[in-house]
Amino acid sequence: MLNLAVILRESATSRPKAPALLHDGGTITYGELDARSDAVAAALQARGIGPGDPVALQAPNIPEFPVAYFGILKTGAVVVPLNVLLRAPEVAHQLRDSGARILITWAAVADEAARAAAEAAVPDVYVINAAADSPGRPFTDLTVPVAGPFPLAERSPGDVAAIVYTSGTTGLPKGAELTHFQMYMNADIPGRLFEIKAEDVVLTVLPLFHVYGMSSAMNLGIRFGCALSLVPRFTPEKVLAAIERDRATIFDGVPTMFGALVAYAEDHECDTSSLRVCVSGGDAIPAHVFDAFEQRFHVPILEGYGMTETASTITFNPSPDDRRPYSVGKPVWGVEVQVWDSEGRRMPPGRNHVGEFVTRGYQTMRAYHGHPSATAEAFEGGWFHTGDLGYADADGFLFIVDRKKELIIRGGYNVYPREVEEILYHHPGVREAAVVGVPDERLGQEVKAIIVTRPGHTLTAGEIVEYCRERVAAYKYPRLVEFRDALPLTGTGKVLKKDLV
Ligand code: AMP
Repeated sequence: MLNLAVILRESATSRPKAPALLHDGGTITYGELDARSDAVAAALQARGIGPGDPVALQAPNIPEFPVAYFGILKTGAVVVPLNVLLRAPEVAHQLRDSGARILITWAAVADEAARAAAEAAVPDVYVINAAADSPGRPFTDLTVPVAGPFPLAERSPGDVAAIVYTSGTTGLPKGAELTHFQMYMNADIPGRLFEIKAEDVVLTVLPLFHVYGMSSAMNLGIRFGCALSLVPRFTPEKVLAAIERDRATIFDGVPTMFGALVAYAEDHECDTSSLRVCVSGGDAIPAHVFDAFEQRFHVPILEGYGMTETASTITFNPSPDDRRPYSVGKPVWGVEVQVWDSEGRRMPPGRNHVGEFVTRGYQTMRAYHGHPSATAEAFEGGWFHTGDLGYADADGFLFIVDRKKELIIRGGYNVYPREVEEILYHHPGVREAAVVGVPDERLGQEVKAIIVTRPGHTLTAGEIVEYCRERVAAYKYPRLVEFRDALPLTGTGKVLKKDLV
């Protein structure tokens, strides 16, 4: 029997009074978190939700997220986490594609979410922190008191625990099916590397709806019985205040966060002496940010690497004594990573041998939900193709140098060009459109649209920006627009994106 929710049940059984969630000065203990998620599980079950049923969850890092997340898992149902910044059509796509039966959303985005639910014919909407005029029903209705621990639904290791949306190497967002075993192991193995203990306090600002926050902060922290210091939205000020208030010992972040903290700390005092280790992932951390952060805050950064499909970590710099700055580290236990050339041959170590990282092991997803051909393509040759390019050194440390896939990472958020291009193609004045990431000092990459106007139309950059801004999440719309007479094409007629950057 295995159910990922066992990580909470075990911590709650061994340390019921220990703090699990710290938020805005409040504390929820492990015993309380277990009991509250039991009540949600019982309510879901009473509404006919059971093993394998997808339940969508859209909330920032507030206590209700873990409460609902573990409640869903306990019934054996499948969590479908949704980004709170998505607009209604984006939410509707993920609801429809996953087959979600219930949507649990959050008051601040509930109108948009309810429109999406109506479009996707999801009848049940529950709203966290609901106001009197919120659509749907208050999340507080989704509780049924239970006497004694809710029995965890039996799951096989290969059963799906979560469906998380990502575009993979190409195309529109697809749901990566992440299994109970995969996520359990990913909560367990990376934590052992830097000897995480129950006394640790994990600063949890990475969104829990993204695989990095879900896996590396929440699952890992709960697995080891730590306290999670929840910060709903990143600002340097809020993060530093939470570190100081909760005496955080571990901080997981993306490179733009480390950069923003360094900049903020230039003219602000803050007590971060409780920190013992920081983890960076999600994007390459620039060397100057890495160095400046360590110098200013006197705490080592361990860089790791992974993706939604591998939920999340596949390589890691094991510990402050065994790390290689600027490298994404070595494959973690039970995971193989190789560097392949375009013919599928393994490449030898050395910085002149750059190829695609491919991986296999316990940590890879089961499939892209409902997309067998995309799954087959991603696992060609029996290994999962990451779409990331890099090399290994003689000691097995891996270095990422580029991305083969089209993915843009803007300030830690993923933007899938195809999704924005589809929006642009709906504009009557657009004949051709390509979306690319261009280097940006602060954000890593900025989103740029290259447009070929339809004859007889005149378009302005402002119009294009506004058109997209109304239709996609705020982090995705292009801030830069260039007009061209034609897009550069390859011999086979594909847009040559490298020539547009
Ligand atoms: P996601 O599916 O949102 O987790 O995005 C995964 C992608 O983020 C990877 O395939 C990489 O392109 C990128 N990524 C993650 N960690 C790193 C890292 N440490 N260095 C460079 N790129 C990274």
